[in-house]
Amino acid sequence: MENALFIYNTLTRTKELFKPLNAPHVGMYVCGPTVYGDPHLGHARPAITFDILFRYLKHNGYKVRYVRNITDVGHLEHDADEGEDKIAKKARLEQLEPMEVAEYYTLRYHHAMEALGVLPPSIEPHATGHIIEQIELVKEILANGYAYESEGSIYFDVEKYNQNHRYGKLSNRNLQDVINNSRTLDGVGEKHNQVDFALWKKAQPQHIMRWPSPWGYGFPGWHTECTAMGRKYLGDHFDIHGGGMDLVFPHHECEIAQAVASQGDEMVHYWMHNNMITINGQKMGKSLGNFITLEQFFTGNHEKLDEAYSPMTIRFFILQAHYRSTVDFSNEALKASRKGLERLMDAIKQLNNISATENGEIDKAYTASLRDKCYEAMNDDLNTPIVISHLFEACHIINQLTDKQTTITPDALEELKAIFQTFSFDILGLRQDADGNEEREVAYSKAIDLLLEIRQQAKANKDWSTSDRIRNELSALGFEVKDTRDGVTWKLNK
Ligand code: ZN
Repeated sequence: MENALFIYNTLTRTKELFKPLNAPHVGMYVCGPTVYGDPHLGHARPAITFDILFRYLKHNGYKVRYVRNITDVGHLEHDADEGEDKIAKKARLEQLEPMEVAEYYTLRYHHAMEALGVLPPSIEPHATGHIIEQIELVKEILANGYAYESEGSIYFDVEKYNQNHRYGKLSNRNLQDVINNSRTLDGVGEKHNQVDFALWKKAQPQHIMRWPSPWGYGFPGWHTECTAMGRKYLGDHFDIHGGGMDLVFPHHECEIAQAVASQGDEMVHYWMHNNMITINGQKMGKSLGNFITLEQFFTGNHEKLDEAYSPMTIRFFILQAHYRSTVDFSNEALKASRKGLERLMDAIKQLNNISATENGEIDKAYTASLRDKCYEAMNDDLNTPIVISHLFEACHIINQLTDKQTTITPDALEELKAIFQTFSFDILGLRQDADGNEEREVAYSKAIDLLLEIRQQAKANKDWSTSDRIRNELSALGFEVKDTRDGVTWKLNK
């Protein structure tokens, strides 16, 4: 079917029909992690949000080139142009090469993303691998008169740019507001204006990450990498640029200015932003004591967590909110999500045990409408919570079928299985999670232990027929029972 996908464009502040510039090809760039610490919840949401978009575009037949970068230089401690580079600081404190720090946390990020069912992007460029492209970008902006050199650093001339273009169009602010809200920091003296941002920073002697440039040794400003690498891999004009809402200003605002100042027009067609995550109603932060890494969620090893939450529970929880709404993490909410996910996965398993009847009450009219409703929700700016609510309604039907309260035709049953495969696994990217079924596994083993205890009692009472029956029936089900000197052992041969 032809899918008319509408997505909310932060730039125009409206839902727009998605029309790729060069169908069937789609170019998509998402700001990736700064690799100086363990991945946490704040990393999970954009990764999962744009994973859904990536999956859905591919499902609709597009050939998607998905670029998600690794920021391994230039991200200073403050979102202004001062402070120490976060990776360099970690390296200095731990006496490591900066690249050791970046590599270590990049691998940790990859493992966490894989656990969350996030597909790897098509290209994952590192900022440090694209210093030349960033220097070229700075040269172009300088040549076009929108930047100036000051004490070996290059700054973007925001006021000059704003005379011909509008700085602040993405975040919907005007320059005067930006000027009034700019913090005065020590060392801004080399800028012509407080709001100017660094394109290239002169490296101080103690700086351990520095490269030669036409302006001496230094390192790129944080905003240049995404403009330079987006253009390198997706071209001067591409479809989608995404990231968390916290990146709208200044990062993406600066990216727009850099693109226009260098090439004369905008690079990106649709800007998309996911909303933020709070924990018990509070922003997540190291100083607030509610900073929880993904690994701590997966192991339950944090004082704020009642229990471990599987990666799929985290994914499902994030998908139960629309990506533009805030999400608040609490133990209660996560437990509810785990139950919801189990309900969905149980229903999918039950589907295989249902037998169809020729004149079943549930027919293809039902499944066609279910499929349409799920697509309709996805096409409405990736409304995953609505897709999930439609799947839950279908779970109710599956339970009725299991309890023989209703019947289904063979083709409707096949279609129902296909719908769950498409939406639960292919598009929402869920999977049957071993961790999520732990309680059930424990219950199964306790039941087997109980049977074997009864068998031991029977043997003690010389009731050979009961003891043989238990052993033979378990063996027929695939269980291997062994009597050893230390007692009875069993395992399931699959
Ligand atoms: Zn970026």
